[in-house]
Amino acid sequence: MNPLVKQDAEHCFHPFSNYSELNAKGARMIERAQGIYIYDDAGREILDAMSGLWCTNMGYSCEPLINAATEQMKKLPYYNLFFQSTHPPAAELSTLLAEVTPEGLNHVFFTGSGSECNDTVIRMVRYYWNAKGKADKKTIISRRNAYHGSTIAGASLGGMVPMHQQTGCIVPDIVHIDQPNTFGDCSAEEREKLGLERAQQLELAIKKLGEDNVAAFIAEPIQGAGGVIIPPDSYWPEIQRICDKYEILLIADEVICGFGRTGEWFASDTYNIKPDLLCMAKGITSGYLPLGGVMVADEVAEVLKATDSEFTHGFTYSGHPVACAVAIANIKEMQRQDIVTKVREEIAPYLAEKWAELAEHPLVGEARSKGMVAALELVQDKTTNQRYDKSLEIGAKCRDYCIEAGLVMRAVGDTMIIAPPLIITKEEIDLLVSRAKKALDTTLNSL
Ligand code: PMP
Repeated sequence: MNPLVKQDAEHCFHPFSNYSELNAKGARMIERAQGIYIYDDAGREILDAMSGLWCTNMGYSCEPLINAATEQMKKLPYYNLFFQSTHPPAAELSTLLAEVTPEGLNHVFFTGSGSECNDTVIRMVRYYWNAKGKADKKTIISRRNAYHGSTIAGASLGGMVPMHQQTGCIVPDIVHIDQPNTFGDCSAEEREKLGLERAQQLELAIKKLGEDNVAAFIAEPIQGAGGVIIPPDSYWPEIQRICDKYEILLIADEVICGFGRTGEWFASDTYNIKPDLLCMAKGITSGYLPLGGVMVADEVAEVLKATDSEFTHGFTYSGHPVACAVAIANIKEMQRQDIVTKVREEIAPYLAEKWAELAEHPLVGEARSKGMVAALELVQDKTTNQRYDKSLEIGAKCRDYCIEAGLVMRAVGDTMIIAPPLIITKEEIDLLVSRAKKALDTTLNSL
């Protein structure tokens, strides 16, 4: 074993890991990266179809980001936005974000991560309704299977049952409704009907709780970590209608979907969602440095600005100057390359076409994609979409065979998911799909 892997096993606790299992075999050591490829300690090249954790949108070798960090480190490596201070990168980035985020979102509260965004959202929503004299509007409605982060607030907003069970102390006044998952829950013809029915669960929940008690609805435009659940077209317009009707704030968690992933700058534009608050992280710096932010709609911002009490909230690294400088460089490089248009018009349609070919594979019950996220449902029987026995852990097997084939693909149960860097070329998509097919073949042969 590489001595560093051994040291890692002895001293490092990894996120979302089973320690006895991981420490016995040792973690995969990634030493360097180039373009869309990562390299392990044996020098093996692996195509990273997950962009790290959905974040290295501009790939691993984006020079302007590296230069921006270096220059900012020399000028002002740290300062904060507390106590009536600011710094040039925070001021410039907030302005740039007001330009690229959906219309009507012109203020940002900076955080250090996606989880911190969602902690911020809980506090900001309640601060807002208090300021409006509607302190009873407290409950936030979220969705089962959602992922909103790993802090206690993030885990509580999220709909991951194992996280709730382990945490024990869940933030009160959060309820969950179903997500619009069509695979397995309905036939292709019933997709739009199911989308409407799942959205209307929001209305039922509001009626049950009483609209005067409901503060907000939070959702990822496309559920990511829950298995790339792409909503039917009927879903979001109905959600928007319900939020407007009952005066419920709509929070779009765009930590994954933001910054070009769906072929628009934000998925709220893709789905015509008008969020009151929008959470972002990951792609804001292409993952080069930790940064997040909550965009605030003008109407909400006006209320916050009019209150005379202090919003007692913030993080040491809220709007870290080096992270902000990298985010500015990242957005400008995205604009220079016109990457969002390229994704929408060229790369995402090509990925969709190639990815769809995988539906022919005997193991695949469905191959779906939207923009630069995609999923495969692994099944035992393509005609009935019956799953393999859970104990076979076929998703995890396939993930391991992907690595053997030189590809990072993630397994969510028996759903295989990808979110490749936005800079991926058509040739690299061909390579991605051929490696995925090879891994599917090996998985099938192993059964
Ligand atoms: N929201 C969503 C939609 C996410 O996918 C994630 C992370 N995958 C988070 C929040 C949490 O972000 P972080 O890990 O930066 O705290």
